[in-house]
Amino acid sequence: MRMKELVSKVLFVDLIKGLSVTFKSMVSHAVTEQYPKERSKIYERFRGEPRMAVDENGKTKCIACNLCAMNCPVGCITVEAERDPETKKRVLTRYVFDMQRCLFCGFCEEICPVNCIQLTTDYEMSQYDRKDFVLELNELEKGMEKIKYKK
Ligand code: SF4
Ligand code: SF4
Repeated sequence: MRMKELVSKVLFVDLIKGLSVTFKSMVSHAVTEQYPKERSKIYERFRGEPRMAVDENGKTKCIACNLCAMNCPVGCITVEAERDPETKKRVLTRYVFDMQRCLFCGFCEEICPVNCIQLTTDYEMSQYDRKDFVLELNELEKGMEKIKYKK
């Protein structure tokens, strides 16, 4: 072993160099995004939390055509309806969206003739319980309940 290497080892030069990098980064400005204090820029085409739109009277815009459910590649939408005896139109009785299986492909949103089912840019969809990912119509209309995380 050469003298220079020996001195370097005895005086822990490499360790001191490494620690100096660590200490410098500890006091310098953070370069990573400080979530949740800072929010990411979300692009308009991002497909996140599903929502069902309502009309000006607060009633669902869904006409129970079932197109979203039929076009969903994983079958995570359930539409239940009954026919109105007077108008002969289908009336929505139940709408269920199972987010556990959703691919966020957007087919349901694209096919909907009344622009009712929409995938929003909201990306905070974490839940503690699996059953909370199965959304009924009222939850889809008002949006998922957001979890307040505790340390
Ligand atoms: S986004 Fe795709 S996978 Fe999810 S419900 Fe719509 S069609 Fe189905
Ligand atoms: S495609 Fe639109 S209108 Fe038809 S059942 Fe689905 S959400 Fe309702």
